Amino acid sequence: MKNLVIVESPTKARTLGQFLGKDYQITASMGHVRDLPRGEFGVDVEHDFKPQYVIPKEKIKAVNNLVKVAAQAEQLWLATDLDREGEAIAWNLLRVIAEKGKVKNPQYQRVVFHEITKEAINEAFEHPRKIDDDLVEAQQARRVLDRLVGYKLSPLLWKKVKSRLSAGRVQSAALRLVVDREREILAFKPEEFWVIEAMLVGQRMESRGQEFSATLIKIEGNKAEVKNKTEADQIVSDLNKAIYKVGEIKSKDIVKNPSPPFTTSTLQQAASTKFGFAPKRTMRIAQDLYENGLITYMRTDSVNLSVNFVTSARKLIEEKFGGKYLPKQARAYKVKSRLAQEAHEAIRPTNVQVTSDKLQVASPAHQKLYDLIWKRTVATQMETAVVTENTVMVNALGNKKYILSAAGQKVKFDGFYKVYGKIPIKEQVLPQLSTGEELKLNKLNSEQKFTQSPARFTEATLIKELEKNEIGRPSTYAPTISTLYERNYIEKLEDKKIGPTPIGKTTVDFLVKHFPKIVDLSFTAEMENDLDLIAQGREQMAPVISKFWEEFEPQVAKVTEEAEKMKVEAEETGEECEKCGKPMVIRYGRFGKFMACSGFPECKNTKTLAAPTGLTCQLCGGSIVMKRTRHGRMFWGCSNYPKCKFASWKKPDVESKKKESTSE
Ligand SMILES: [Zn+2]
Ligand SMILES: [Zn+2]
Repeated sequence: MKNLVIVESPTKARTLGQFLGKDYQITASMGHVRDLPRGEFGVDVEHDFKPQYVIPKEKIKAVNNLVKVAAQAEQLWLATDLDREGEAIAWNLLRVIAEKGKVKNPQYQRVVFHEITKEAINEAFEHPRKIDDDLVEAQQARRVLDRLVGYKLSPLLWKKVKSRLSAGRVQSAALRLVVDREREILAFKPEEFWVIEAMLVGQRMESRGQEFSATLIKIEGNKAEVKNKTEADQIVSDLNKAIYKVGEIKSKDIVKNPSPPFTTSTLQQAASTKFGFAPKRTMRIAQDLYENGLITYMRTDSVNLSVNFVTSARKLIEEKFGGKYLPKQARAYKVKSRLAQEAHEAIRPTNVQVTSDKLQVASPAHQKLYDLIWKRTVATQMETAVVTENTVMVNALGNKKYILSAAGQKVKFDGFYKVYGKIPIKEQVLPQLSTGEELKLNKLNSEQKFTQSPARFTEATLIKELEKNEIGRPSTYAPTISTLYERNYIEKLEDKKIGPTPIGKTTVDFLVKHFPKIVDLSFTAEMENDLDLIAQGREQMAPVISKFWEEFEPQVAKVTEEAEKMKVEAEETGEECEKCGKPMVIRYGRFGKFMACSGFPECKNTKTLAAPTGLTCQLCGGSIVMKRTRHGRMFWGCSNYPKCKFASWKKPDVESKKKESTSE
């Protein structure tokens, strides 16, 4: 065999195979070939924190095969992904081939590309390089740091908070954001205020008959602050007798710019908001699209677009939408990122001619995500939209002088919105008014409102916050959030919102008290920045980790010795245990929430927690709820259990039942 190419996955191997000739054999490593050992510390803190990698048991056979095939190749090409993770896989592959194959310095070439297309592959294989040790070191440093924190903190949490907990470095800082927000919401005191609105109509030919609404903004020249019903009623009664005249009229054109091309973080946010995709799911689908050669590499924080792509996008825009949708000059986006050298481009389609309906991939989810990426990218190269905003001031003279304001907006040119097929702007047209014109009052409305507490995070807004605080990287957003769910630190509430569980709150309290740095946002950001500097060769792994460890290790010892156990507050359910009469409380297990007797360990009574479904039981007319078996499998059951025994693995087919009964 002449050439052996190693990549991470079979899909990537297949796509690559279409572009490399018969002289190349392509094989997949199936991800990392070595990692830190499970159930063992695996870091030599005495010797520069050297990681002690092992080949996981289930991979030994595949790795041995890989080594054997590699020995037969005349030329070895390492074509794993282009970021730190991919670089580390390539480096570990090479080490394994060297050690197992007993070759001191195996000959190899490292090739990187950020899209799997003919041009990119040719280019990469014409310009191979060697493994970038700085990138490898940055990946190792992250792995080792996370291991130090996880391995030392977790047992401490078991002892001082609750058994089987675990702590992670970035996760803990993210969890703190969620807990802090929840407490802000709890502490928030809503303030009452009133909004007063007049329904007015013009008197001239041009404006007659067209009612519009204007909101009170000023009283005697000061900002209108209406605090309670008494005040509101007084103003309404004065405004009822007032004389209304049109004051200043203003009109201006607002230019709307398209959003920049997708990065990992903005793609995850958009897919979560639009489709409700969890970040982990978005990444899995994006990886599929990348490995099938359809989009560029999905882990990036660059907003750059290649010149070739922009040229072909502009051609498409002119053909498909017409010249007026094409800006005179191509739009470029500035890369503010530290990582610009690692990931070259934003997430974009590899071929702009391929629209989602021509897509050769499987699922509707793939199609949706591709469509989202395609439209966002094409929009970046389209003309800006123009919206005309009109504001009309209305002077009302009663016992006092009032100013009301009416606003209208109209789309003048749809620009890049064209690609989305709809414009996210609510048009509101004001009648043709002229200054000094007298207005007739049709009606006054006053409405009680309250100031709003800050909103709970959604997955999308949490990712945004992580990025804003610089504690996330393209490779970490999705795993950070899914880990918080898996460990029952956060839970999903209604409307895609996220809230902390009692365990989450107590864990954060414990860490804030004893390891303030671990949950300090700027410290975590600094740490991430150090990792970036290592990747650029401007810092070294050992001193960075050592600085952290020298403070962290004695603190672990001190807290183990001195800290008192913290109690996780129990969530009441309002139900009593039918076995012993003590209150039932919510507990968290491997499969999420369940009800347990607060008399534990004396009383071991537990019950599954039911989630309402809105469906009706066909046997007894009770309501159908979703429950889990003790083994975690979801099923549909009747809320009247044990009186009614209805249970089903599949969703009860209530709709078709209804149809049957009406046709009878
Ligand atoms: Zn009990
Ligand atoms: Zn029933």
